[in-house]
Amino acid sequence: MAKYTESVCRLCRREGQKLFLKGDRCYTNKCAVDRRAYAPGMHGQARGKKPTEYGIQLREKQKVRRIYGVLEKQFRGYFDKAARQKGMTGENLLRLLERRLDNVVFRLGFASSRPEARQLVTHGHITINGKRVDIASYLVSTGEAISIKESSKDNNRIKEMAESLKDRAVPAWLSLDINSITGTVINMPTREDIQIPIEEHLIVEKYSR
Ligand code: SF4
Repeated sequence: MAKYTESVCRLCRREGQKLFLKGDRCYTNKCAVDRRAYAPGMHGQARGKKPTEYGIQLREKQKVRRIYGVLEKQFRGYFDKAARQKGMTGENLLRLLERRLDNVVFRLGFASSRPEARQLVTHGHITINGKRVDIASYLVSTGEAISIKESSKDNNRIKEMAESLKDRAVPAWLSLDINSITGTVINMPTREDIQIPIEEHLIVEKYSR
């Protein structure tokens, strides 16, 4: 599977805002957006031109792609699927991305960032209804129970994570049982459940050109 290999902090600096891709570090004064609040590269500090309408739409799309860690082709696939569904395409798109297994593992607090959550999934530490699922893009459905594989619960990093779950608030569409380290999908996410600062209509406008 292709993946993005550049420093993820450069992505935040490019978008001019924190995308929270590095877990705990994002909440410290080591965050690159706080330390260098300008775009990366040779011309990063140069005064930029006023962005075009297309430029604004493009940046919004890139932001969402980077938040969820999805490559271009796959993102387009989500968009096409969202457009075929009933309702608002932009909202459908976010709801699809939100249902990705790596995102759900992150939302449940099993990992401190989506990249870490993706690693937990691809390394086979996650089960759905008791069966191992190692596909980060798997879309969860109502009633499914997401848990840590029994034999992985001895892993030190996972033990540490389990300790921190008591302080974790999960979105309304999920529930969490901290004793069994199991999250359940109680509903499909609504737009209100997805607390990310995105104007999804800009993405729809970009693809409608
Ligand atoms: Fe982005 Fe986190 Fe890096 Fe800050 S520390 S630039 S929020 S990934």
